[in-house]
Amino acid sequence: MPIRIASRKMFLAGNWVNRERSIEVRDPQDNSLIDTVPAASKEDMLHCIEEAKEGAKLAASMPVHERMAVIQKAADYIEKNKETYAMTIAREGSKTIREAAKEVNRCLETLRISAEEARRIAGETIPFDQSPGSEKRVGYYLRVPIGIIGAITPFNDPINLVAHKVGPAIAAGNAIIVKPATVTPLSALLLAEAFDKAGLPPKILSVITGYGSEIGDVLVTHPAVRMISFTGGLEAGEEISRKAGLKKLSMELGANSPVIVLEDADLDEAVQVTVSGAFWAAGQNCLGVQRIYIQESIREKFQRKFVERTRQYSIGDKQSLVTDMGPLITEKEAIRVQQIVNEAIEKGSKLLTGGERRGAFYLPTVLTDVPDDCIIAKEEIFGPVVLLYGVKNLAEGIEKANDNDYGLQAGIFTNDIKKAHEAIAKVEAGGIMINDSSDYRIDAMPFGGVKNSGLGREGIKFAIQEMTELKVVCYKLS
Ligand code: NAP
Repeated sequence: MPIRIASRKMFLAGNWVNRERSIEVRDPQDNSLIDTVPAASKEDMLHCIEEAKEGAKLAASMPVHERMAVIQKAADYIEKNKETYAMTIAREGSKTIREAAKEVNRCLETLRISAEEARRIAGETIPFDQSPGSEKRVGYYLRVPIGIIGAITPFNDPINLVAHKVGPAIAAGNAIIVKPATVTPLSALLLAEAFDKAGLPPKILSVITGYGSEIGDVLVTHPAVRMISFTGGLEAGEEISRKAGLKKLSMELGANSPVIVLEDADLDEAVQVTVSGAFWAAGQNCLGVQRIYIQESIREKFQRKFVERTRQYSIGDKQSLVTDMGPLITEKEAIRVQQIVNEAIEKGSKLLTGGERRGAFYLPTVLTDVPDDCIIAKEEIFGPVVLLYGVKNLAEGIEKANDNDYGLQAGIFTNDIKKAHEAIAKVEAGGIMINDSSDYRIDAMPFGGVKNSGLGREGIKFAIQEMTELKVVCYKLS
């Protein structure tokens, strides 16, 4: 890598700093250079952790009304500069400008809810006298900050997934060090700018740009860092879990989410919602619909309508308001998706539409008759590809939906309440959406997976629970 001074600085313990070694940030659609950011060193990360020790004390001592005010002010700053934020997301990532604008709105919601939830961090009284011999005791438990949190985030929601860690961490009185994805660091730096402008005391927040393979271990293994909040792929999540040692872990990992469509469903609605769920952000969405199990009696009709709608998608310039889908995050990723689809076709899958790559763009692709031994049948594709299967009935749909190592969210389309309840009871996932796509989410709901999709829950209130410790207080009345 050539030595050059980064033009965008990183936010290290309240200071905007530069480094000689830099990382280029490129627009995936045409590979043009957008900016450069510092490539932080291990020493930078160690320095950051040292500073965060003081930051954690400062954060814990901030009264709740001050935490609330600073988070609200950061949200106000983002709201005033919405266009810049959306443009940055759309340029450095693979979202279209419409998708990026939606992410900015969600980020505002995440921050504003974080501020509100700060006032609801509470404990409860404990009836100590339930235990013979403890009659003369009264007390309660309260929630206290955990200390320093290390946050590692992915490229696909480059600001809102960072806000989902920073908002709750500050609301709960913690210091937080963010290492954003190397390909999309600019949006996370803009979030730091908002908190800096809002007057967050220095050392509470750092956004440190650098390669996970170089600086990740220092953050993950350092004993002063009391929690790692990770969002990303299974492989990195497992490696981090192995290395982290005795600290809290929150793991928001991948999936290949299923949706079941039964014959009594509103077919047009199911088609419209699942097409969007499959191709949102070019399929680079942890909740994206990857497998659709359709009752045989409506399979042909559903398939035809699904393919028709997919073919109407407009693919191209991310900055255009009429574009439905942009490129993948890099050409390398598009090649990976292409190889996985080709493997499925070589093994006998039928290509209904798509299957074509143009640089970093990969056309929305629909496959059917996919054999179980194909990579795409079991693994997360994280690209614009969806698999359609026929099933006899709900029981078979549930069995197939569960025959998988992931379990983030799922969907079922039916107007039969009994069938919906059967799916709720039996589908193995962190959430099940009735008459909606697996990718439905609001920022305030508990969010996280079972099996290989993760550990713990985000969704502000729930992240705050993970980012605090319980402390018991007992008064002996003698
Ligand atoms: P990724 O490759 O796992 O990277 C995620 C983050 O981890 C990046 O910041 C990366 O840094 C860092 N990292 C990688 N290896 C590391 C290590 N050994 N130690 C410390 N840090 C390390 O994921 P991605 O490609 O950015 O994102 C896609 C994945 O995220 C998909 O699997 C998707 O399903 C998942 N995801 C899950 C959720 C959820 O809430 N469940 C939400 C969004 C995305 P570098 O960029 O420097 O490599």
